[in-house]
Amino acid sequence: ALMTGNEYVESLRKLNMEVYIFGERVECPVDHPIIRPSLNSVKMTYDLAQEPEYEELMTVTSHLTGKKINRFAHIHQSTEDLVKKVKMQRLLGQKTASCFQRCVGMDAFNACYSTTYDMDKKLGTNYHEKLKKYIIYCQENDLTVDGAMTDPKGDRGLAPSAQADPDMFLHIVERREDGIVVRGAKAHQTGMVNSHEVLVMPTLSMTETDKDYSVCFAVPTDTKGIKMIYGRQSCDTRKLEGSKVDVGNPKFGGHEALVVFDNVFVPNDRIFMCGEYEFSNSLVERFAGFHRQSYGGCKVGVGDVLIGATALISDYNGTKKASHIKDKIIEMTHLNETLYCAGIACSSEGHKTAAGSYEIDLLLANVCKQNVTRFPYEIARLAEDIAGGILVTLPSEADLNSKEVGHYVEKYLKGVATVPTITRMKVLRFIENLTLGTAAVGYRTESLHGAGSPQAQRIMISRQSNLEAKKQLVKDILDIDI
Ligand code: SF4
Ligand code: FE
Repeated sequence: ALMTGNEYVESLRKLNMEVYIFGERVECPVDHPIIRPSLNSVKMTYDLAQEPEYEELMTVTSHLTGKKINRFAHIHQSTEDLVKKVKMQRLLGQKTASCFQRCVGMDAFNACYSTTYDMDKKLGTNYHEKLKKYIIYCQENDLTVDGAMTDPKGDRGLAPSAQADPDMFLHIVERREDGIVVRGAKAHQTGMVNSHEVLVMPTLSMTETDKDYSVCFAVPTDTKGIKMIYGRQSCDTRKLEGSKVDVGNPKFGGHEALVVFDNVFVPNDRIFMCGEYEFSNSLVERFAGFHRQSYGGCKVGVGDVLIGATALISDYNGTKKASHIKDKIIEMTHLNETLYCAGIACSSEGHKTAAGSYEIDLLLANVCKQNVTRFPYEIARLAEDIAGGILVTLPSEADLNSKEVGHYVEKYLKGVATVPTITRMKVLRFIENLTLGTAAVGYRTESLHGAGSPQAQRIMISRQSNLEAKKQLVKDILDIDI
């Protein structure tokens, strides 16, 4: 059954995760002031699913059980499903102005679904049925699953099995009758602390020598041996100061963690790849493809909010009638909608896999993500341009409230007379949050490196670009037959 947002929060509270911040174990991650805004973002994926207005985007009928489930647990059954996924992500970006984290599990489900099917067909293994059972379990209990792909990678010039430290890529250290034991780590894991489960996949194409590294499995996030070391974000400790203004976005955020798997036991029914190195490439490619599609939704939704904040601050600054301001906001919109175009295009141009599920058009998804590595930076630059230098020189809320200097802050930081100074400060801090603060992790650097760094997309674009066919077009027109 679908959980309400509050039920989700309570379900997380019951887990006994091993989480560290600033070198110390966190007693209750759910209530930690640095973590909580990121939890609120995931909670939104549950809250919106309860609202009739968003039912069609947020929920869907499971093809496995026929029951109503949250779309984040769904295996896409049509191109319409793929389009709705992107629309749902844009909506959530708009509602949170943050990374809402739950997509990595959805993208991992879908990548594993078609890959395990292909694997079983070719090798006679039995992973697909096991995975289906696992997906049903997650759908029925409305769980948040963290898809985990990126290994620390050590020396980038060496294969997993050639590393000085064998743990630089997560690998099998013991094969037992009832399962396997794994060791290694997954880096910058989005949403791990807010997830019930983690679905681990290999991070790159493997060869035969890397057999032990070709492993895919799922375990609960509070499994013994899993340790999460919370990632710092710019301005994160402002959340400990108690000012709702200075944090920029007092309600929502995102997070990443370094996740260590220190001899973690995985039971047989939770193993979906165990040495089948030939299929690691397809798993990686498909997951990356889905997640590159995802960015054509979530980043666009966050962009919508940033454009809104920029238009607001221009109202408050009294600059909204200047033609260059209007034009810059048009440019921001143009860039943001261009991202969306590719997100929608790679979805509606999707196709059916052998397993029956639907996947995106790979070329268009990579073009989508390549745009995402650039346009949010330009959108952020324009936002900073319009906001003005006050964005980074603004005194604190405490100064505004100070007996001695508060009235000066109130007086001199006023823009147009009808807008209270505090309101202008709030919007400036909000823009700061997205462009330089905690949310810049998601909006900027993650746009660059998340779902694969820019060069990874260029490799895929080059593979899919079909240059020979394009040359042939010319030859046909010019009657060249060599
Ligand atoms: Fe979802 Fe975007 Fe966050 Fe990835 S970056 S988990 S797609 S919100
Ligand atoms: Fe991401």
